Amino acid sequence: MRIANLAGRAVLIDGDRAVDVHTASAGRFGPDPVAIFAEWDAFTDWAATTTDVEVGVAFDRRDLGAPSPAPAQVFAIGLNYRDHAAETGLAAPDAPPTFTKFASCLTGPETDLALPTDTVDWEVELVAVIGREATDVATDDAWSHIAGLTTGQDFSERTSQMAGPAPQFSLAKSFPGFGPTGPWLVTPDEFADPNDLAIECAIDGETVQSGRTAQMIFPVAELIAHVSAVCTLRPGDLIFTGTPAGVGVGRSPQRFLAPGNIVTSSIEGIGPLVQRCVPGAK
Ligand code: ZN
Repeated sequence: MRIANLAGRAVLIDGDRAVDVHTASAGRFGPDPVAIFAEWDAFTDWAATTTDVEVGVAFDRRDLGAPSPAPAQVFAIGLNYRDHAAETGLAAPDAPPTFTKFASCLTGPETDLALPTDTVDWEVELVAVIGREATDVATDDAWSHIAGLTTGQDFSERTSQMAGPAPQFSLAKSFPGFGPTGPWLVTPDEFADPNDLAIECAIDGETVQSGRTAQMIFPVAELIAHVSAVCTLRPGDLIFTGTPAGVGVGRSPQRFLAPGNIVTSSIEGIGPLVQRCVPGAK
């Protein structure tokens, strides 16, 4: 099942068409895409019986918003791929380094990205979306709390991230538009193995990151267990799960985004995000 946010309304994606949830459910669910997470089990029970019989409408991908547009919490994990830790010159962690991307940076999958500086970097990431409240869950039980997976970009302003006596991740990764997600939420049953998906980022068609999510040091289930031991996870919450090697700051010479660049971030079985870089207000 693929669930999206089309111009602020919850939709089911059926091929290249969208079925409006509120209309198809005769008002039972939607139209607010945030509200479906609060009733996730009832919603997915209904949706499982619906896509075969309802006829969707064609849509413009630029009208898609974030699949979970107003999460109570957004967690992000640093250094979760060994080859990425190595390229940054840091040791692989013993526990998941965790920070936040503030929710105001979230956008849909196809956007213009205004560059606030000339040191903005790319990080394609698998994003897990919570479907059932999770408090101190065991790793073995973690997947039952996940609504689905989506593609994310953890755009990062490296100058402010690395300034100061200790790295400052959260603000540096929360400029407007720095958290595109989508194009839709894909439920875990859609994947042959949701723990092993190709993950890739390209700039102007040149592949800059290429890996598999199976390379995570801490797999998705371990991240849920780790975070939920401290914070209760709520339906709609996001976990950005870290990025593989190939970011600009780890290159020699270093490389960052410039106006005109097209950043395409994709994960197998989910689909791409496309960001067009434009000059920021100076
Ligand atoms: Zn990241």
